[in-house]
Amino acid sequence: MIKSRAIFLDRDGVINEDSESFITHPDQVKIFPTVSQSIRSLREIGFHIIVVSNQSGVGRGLLSEETLADINGKIRDELDREGAKLDAMYYCPHLPTDGCSCRKPRNGMLVQASQDFGIDLSESYMIGDKPSDIACGESSGCTTILTLSGQSKGFDKSKFIVYPDFICTDLLVASKWILEKEKTPKG
Ligand SMILES: [Mg+2]
Ligand SMILES: [Zn+2]
Repeated sequence: MIKSRAIFLDRDGVINEDSESFITHPDQVKIFPTVSQSIRSLREIGFHIIVVSNQSGVGRGLLSEETLADINGKIRDELDREGAKLDAMYYCPHLPTDGCSCRKPRNGMLVQASQDFGIDLSESYMIGDKPSDIACGESSGCTTILTLSGQSKGFDKSKFIVYPDFICTDLLVASKWILEKEKTPKG
């Protein structure tokens, strides 16, 4: 069986503007303008597009799983309308102190997705705006990309234990880098 490949996307700070506090209502969702175009171009070359997001606001009691589903539904619908389908949206609702296996930098969500979709993680990419996204992607064997579209607008080396394979401004530049890389024959 030929395995599928995926682009794993963090949500807040990559797809939509991150908030100083937590995003707790669909009205707070502001998707970056070039996200749909980026997703379309990655889908065209055969990647699954899968969101993996830490949402400890649920565990903190700041929003219910129902509200989170509404927020994710809004993101999915808006992107759908622009032809940028998401294959799945995984989230970790737990607190950092819960010690779960899904909260990034742990890679439970990627492992789950790889089982659900038959994904070869070593042929996949993880794109995020935080050190935990990069550590999660790296420990899963993915190529990692840091976007500076989140709250930290620069690359602060001291915050990273694992460095990303590529650093760029946003998902559009990340998608172009992947497209270029995928054109180059391997080996
Ligand atoms: Mg983020
Ligand atoms: Zn979790």
